[in-house]
Amino acid sequence: MATLELKNLHAEVVEADEKILNGVDLEVKSGEIHALMGPNGSGKSTTAKVVAGHPAYEVTEGEIVLTLEDDEFGEEIPEEKRSWDLLDLEPNERAALGVFLGFQYPAEIEGVTMVNFLRQALNAKLDEREELFEDDEEEAEAEDEEEDAGYDTSPMEGPADEGEVDVAQFQQILSEKMELLDMDETFAQRYLNAGFSGGEKKQNEVLQAAILEPSIAVLDEIDSGLDIDRLQDVSNGINALRDEQGTGILQITHYQRILDYVEPDHVHVMLDGEIAMSGGAELAEKLEDKGYDWVREEVYEAA
Ligand code: ADP
Ligand code: MG
Ligand code: MG
Repeated sequence: MATLELKNLHAEVVEADEKILNGVDLEVKSGEIHALMGPNGSGKSTTAKVVAGHPAYEVTEGEIVLTLEDDEFGEEIPEEKRSWDLLDLEPNERAALGVFLGFQYPAEIEGVTMVNFLRQALNAKLDEREELFEDDEEEAEAEDEEEDAGYDTSPMEGPADEGEVDVAQFQQILSEKMELLDMDETFAQRYLNAGFSGGEKKQNEVLQAAILEPSIAVLDEIDSGLDIDRLQDVSNGINALRDEQGTGILQITHYQRILDYVEPDHVHVMLDGEIAMSGGAELAEKLEDKGYDWVREEVYEAA
């Protein structure tokens, strides 16, 4: 179990000095599905990017805290390493601790198959996590020396047989995950630059999350532009992440439609960079009927 907490989060665009988030409070736990809804431009994607550590945004106030239970990664985590201030960490370190933000458009690199890309992403995550939990300075130094000597495995670099999970082990993991998601195995054999369709990119995002097994996954508009069949496939995948891996989901969506298939435990409405209203699944239905204006009216009436 892990808990991701956004506490009074304020953020602005670095380049433009424009304030976008105005005190976001949100708590997502493993195994929960939260829908983050709101009109265009309300700050949903910015929230996701700030959680991931996107360099275009500066957090000016507030906190993002990730709390891990003692056995989150299948082994004992020392007390002093169970609570992390994500704002102190690089994006890859946040990912290594189990916070996933999908990247729908992995760099199109000549000659790299999906399967190799995914294996390297998994190995990079496992390496990074090991480093974060190293308590012994000597170990850290040894690691640095290894890195200096050129043994580090970052994605897209180094010989293909390096890393914690080798090709054969990864094949096994991949098969299991593709079965879990009901995906065709030939998918992973394709090249990154082979022109995935919009729907396939979304399925890719779910596959990445299945392989990296995050504690919390932030999925930004994964439903946009999907036809009904593909929407159902993607939704089944998201439900499997939650049901089979215990992943907590922060599902960002403008539309209620996907919530018919991925039923949220909690629904939040963002307006002007703040969570203006929260409720259960029925709130999403009300939004579908009445749009976002009534939320604005209610919030301003109360103020
Ligand atoms: P949503 O995802 O809810 O549609 P966003 O978080 O993408 O909203 O954007 C919120 C507001 O912040 C918008 O007005 C958008 O134009 C502005 N914004 C977001 N990112 C940037 C940026 N990098 N530079 C300038 N303005 C930005
Ligand atoms: Mg607030
Ligand atoms: Mg957006």
